[in-house]
Amino acid sequence: MGKARNIKNFFVFSAGSEGVGGGIIIKGNMYIGNNYLAGEIGHIRIDPASQEVCHCGGRGCFENIISYDKIISRAKELYMESGSSEKSDSLTISNIFNDSNNGNIAAMKVMEEFAELYAVGISNGCMMIDPELIIITGEIADAGDFFIEKLRGKISDISLNNMKKNYDIQYTSFNKNGSILGGAIHSINYYFDNCFLIFKKGILH
Ligand SMILES: [Zn+2]
Repeated sequence: MGKARNIKNFFVFSAGSEGVGGGIIIKGNMYIGNNYLAGEIGHIRIDPASQEVCHCGGRGCFENIISYDKIISRAKELYMESGSSEKSDSLTISNIFNDSNNGNIAAMKVMEEFAELYAVGISNGCMMIDPELIIITGEIADAGDFFIEKLRGKISDISLNNMKKNYDIQYTSFNKNGSILGGAIHSINYYFDNCFLIFKKGILH
């Protein structure tokens, strides 16, 4: 469905105020993992020096490094430096997204800095599965053209040559419904796969 129609191997990266997650689709099927934890990209460690404890118990987790609080806090510093301190007090993530797409230097700088951090985590995840497509979803999918262009560039800078030549990075086309649609498809597939097995077992025995 959507951007992944007819694509068999892809990675879905989700980020927003509720955290970071990932979905791995290999040969058209979701890869779940031994403990249903495959794709927990938010808890890969990308800053060994960080002392901040994540809710998972780890330190330096990707999810904490790129959190919205961190983006807003850094944006406030840069807005202050650029002289727009009036706005920085009530700054929201939507303001920063909009400003970065409208040429605000401070907003562009913060989104570029965070695109670099996002790129580290996403490319680490992709190195494991070598996908055809990376789909960006969650609230970060509202960040707009400036962010995704920077993200493409930063991921390309640190990816293996053959990998970056052959994959694409796109925002989801499903807004907030993507997870529900994906969950529904997974349930329907699971139901019919198991019905078929029960039916086959019944015939054989
Ligand atoms: Zn964690």
